Amino acid sequence: MSRFLNARYETLEPYTPGEQPKNAGKLIKLNTNENPYPPAPGVVAVIDDRKLVDLKLYSDPEAAALTEAIADFFGLRKGQVIAGNGSDEILAFIFMALQGKSGKVYYPEISYSFYPVYCDIFGAKGIKVPLGADFAVEPADYFHKDGTIVITNPNAPTGRALSRAEIESILEANRDNLVVIDEAYVDFGAESAVGLIGRYDNLLVVQTFSKSRSLAGARIGYALGNEAVIADLNRIKFSFNPYNLNRLSILAGIEAIKDRAYFEETRGRIIKTREAFTAELSALGFHVLPSKANFVFAASDRISGGAYFAALRKFNILVRHFDDEKIANYVRITIGTPKEMRSLIAATKQILESGAAASEGLNG
Ligand SMILES: *Cc1c(COP(=O)(O)O)cnc(C)c1O
Repeated sequence: MSRFLNARYETLEPYTPGEQPKNAGKLIKLNTNENPYPPAPGVVAVIDDRKLVDLKLYSDPEAAALTEAIADFFGLRKGQVIAGNGSDEILAFIFMALQGKSGKVYYPEISYSFYPVYCDIFGAKGIKVPLGADFAVEPADYFHKDGTIVITNPNAPTGRALSRAEIESILEANRDNLVVIDEAYVDFGAESAVGLIGRYDNLLVVQTFSKSRSLAGARIGYALGNEAVIADLNRIKFSFNPYNLNRLSILAGIEAIKDRAYFEETRGRIIKTREAFTAELSALGFHVLPSKANFVFAASDRISGGAYFAALRKFNILVRHFDDEKIANYVRITIGTPKEMRSLIAATKQILESGAAASEGLNG
């Protein structure tokens, strides 16, 4: 820490991103929920030398062509959409500015681990709402709050989803609170709240191109909601970083969202792989939470989460393990290609068969 840091950041605990290893080519990388399939073909085709030369010019601060393409995809008006440098940036703007009058933000105790960091950096009072049995988010626990509510649906890292009716019950019971639904994984089988935007001016839906659109490296996220709330977010954006989306990402995003067939094809494949993989891992005795995301959250009595993570690593398979003691027995496994998941199952069988599992499990 330098002597120049303002005292209010001295205790800030930054978010820990999943590892992005340098030798990723040699690894089966199932730790940060990236899509195993490449971006839509149009994305690759649109970026040519000319577009690279255009980088000498600023990008469109409104990213209008992209927000229009997003609005078109959802049947919304352009004013109901704002794009950001990843949905992380959009979430940052929300925690910065849309904390409501009370400055309180409610979110599930186990959820996206960036939320408490944003509360910390932006001075919001984060309130963790406990989960029900088997990590279920209980809608009634969010009724009649006095601040903003942020719910990841499907939740991370559990993969469990609320129905649209359950989300609506939370909206109904919080007419004067903003309810943010972080739908980073919604395209893998959960019900989106986007259809409720016309009826609830307190709803803000956040989505990303990082998972279901295979563009994690392009950093494109967006929020959908009531025009007044989107205008507030634009107020923050234009006070912070007007050119928040670069020219190449805008082009890539437009191509990705236009290609509905590719989107349907790739997300369908991932859902199918997830279901087959869940059955296989369950057959090995794992407790696998019912997932509507492109990952599963799983634990076994025969090996601790930490030991399983470390053992897979020896097979060059990278998954995610969280230290939080409530979930320390679990690992989060991203759904990759069928071949990658077969390798993981084969490695798991070997790990369980080698006596190492039991003893390492006790130590881990
Ligand atoms: C991946 C993820 C995001 C961030 O996505 P980016 O658009 O890549 O910034 C937001 N929320 C949740 C719950 C995520 O898992």
